Amino acid sequence: MPAAPVRFLVVLDADSTLIRNEVIELIADEAGRGPEVAAATEAAMRGEVDFATSLRSRVEVLAGVPVTAFARVLARIEPTPGVHELIDAVHDRGGAVGVVSGGFHEILDTIAPRLGVDVWRANRLATADEALSGLVDGDIVDAAGKAQALGEWAAERGVALSRTIAIGDGANDLLMMAAAGLGVAFNAKPAVRAQADVVVGPVDLSEIIPLLP
Ligand SMILES: [Mg+2]
Repeated sequence: MPAAPVRFLVVLDADSTLIRNEVIELIADEAGRGPEVAAATEAAMRGEVDFATSLRSRVEVLAGVPVTAFARVLARIEPTPGVHELIDAVHDRGGAVGVVSGGFHEILDTIAPRLGVDVWRANRLATADEALSGLVDGDIVDAAGKAQALGEWAAERGVALSRTIAIGDGANDLLMMAAAGLGVAFNAKPAVRAQADVVVGPVDLSEIIPLLP
């Protein structure tokens, strides 16, 4: 079914933007490797290493985690304060909300519809015998993949790029922030703050409502 036309499009990153957590760290906790993966994720979000290479090596650490662990991970997810207010405000004003994540469909497919997100895209974790194999399934959603998702979702809904807003915290959000009409650094790393059109400091997504068209 083709997407209905909307007035504008807001695209959020997932980890540390839509939600307070970094999901890969929560899954790594299930493998007893949380701190090591957290350090590697932090470096990737600061833009110090290539995202796709970093993601592949971090996902290798997850090998052997049973898929039943996703229920425990989901229970630990904390939506970011203000997320319901922001999403309601976008819908009230005739806009659509997308989420694009360097994290994983296995978690986002539950979280995104609960929060009222209209469209989302993320990476997929390969499994074998009901456990993670340590590989990413398919193409990796990296910085270019995020910008591509924003462009596709806008085109599908008849929205000019000038009427898109991209919100993120990490270095892999910079390309979609540059492609969007407005790039918002939220809860963001220094390199992201430096290149954003707008910096939102408080970790409260309702702070973005006044920026909506
Ligand atoms: Mg993030």
